[in-house]
Amino acid sequence: MIERERLVLIGHPVSHSLSPVMYNAALEAAGRKLRYETLDVPPDALSSAIEALALQNSAGNFTLPHKKAAFKRVAQPSALSSAVGAVNTFWRTDDGVIAGDNTDVAGFNEMVREELGSLPETSRVAVIGAGGAASAVLTALESWSGATASVHARDLARATSMRMRHPVVVRACSMRDPCLEDADLVVNATPIGLSGEDAHPVELSLLARRAVVVDLVYGADETAWVRAARERGHTAFDGLSMLLHQGVAAWTLWFGVEPDRAVMWEALRKAAGRV
Ligand code: NAP
Repeated sequence: MIERERLVLIGHPVSHSLSPVMYNAALEAAGRKLRYETLDVPPDALSSAIEALALQNSAGNFTLPHKKAAFKRVAQPSALSSAVGAVNTFWRTDDGVIAGDNTDVAGFNEMVREELGSLPETSRVAVIGAGGAASAVLTALESWSGATASVHARDLARATSMRMRHPVVVRACSMRDPCLEDADLVVNATPIGLSGEDAHPVELSLLARRAVVVDLVYGADETAWVRAARERGHTAFDGLSMLLHQGVAAWTLWFGVEPDRAVMWEALRKAAGRV
């Protein structure tokens, strides 16, 4: 089993994250003294933070808003993180450099498989947002059989750039584009709802009733959007189990063995007030 001197989450802000609860439960269950810390690093300090982490045998995660910038700054990005254009997981290699990967892709696929029983085939997916998480979702969709996607962003140029990067994207659209009605699955990949506010990334009235509603945002409670979608009759779920699955994959990259997934899930559910 690989030893590490330091495990950190780098974000700005980081206080909302449930990652420390999840990983610290797994560290305790594995009998390790190490603790997972949060580091609030503003964007202009990201490069120096990564340089400092390379001096120790460290590993960890990048979160909002650093995933895309981290991809450009780690010394060894994986092929998958190059496809996404974002890094959410890093570790120092034996050569003393920082390597990066993207476990959000596997996390999204695992969550959908778990919630829906299998990955949907020939699905039309609407992705709201054009940041690092949206790119991970689109990379995941490229492994589905016959999926196509529309990307909906407040800045159309950003949606268009996703279309250039991801062959699965057939339309770059505004947030309220009428094509939302064609979607079988609608994914919120913006931070709307993260602060517990009663705000919806897109109005539910724009969606067909059959559409599955997926919110990558998770928190101490389900988001207002997920709750309202369920009340309207949609199958709907938030990103809590994606957090678990991307975390299991990250731990395996850091330590070379799998963590106790049940302990992590229990800790997350407790912290999110769901038990
Ligand atoms: P990001 O790279 O900063 O991208 C955020 C995207 O949302 C950008 O396209 C941004 O648009 C858009 N956006 C922000 N506020 C908006 C608003 N008020 N209206 C419309 N669009 C808005 O962030 P990210 O890394 O992709 O993360 C997005 C969310 O996914 C976060 O809440 C994060 O917590 C969640 N997430 C969850 C998991 C999980 O495991 N459950 C994993 C990854 C991410 P502009 O470019 O115009 O600013």
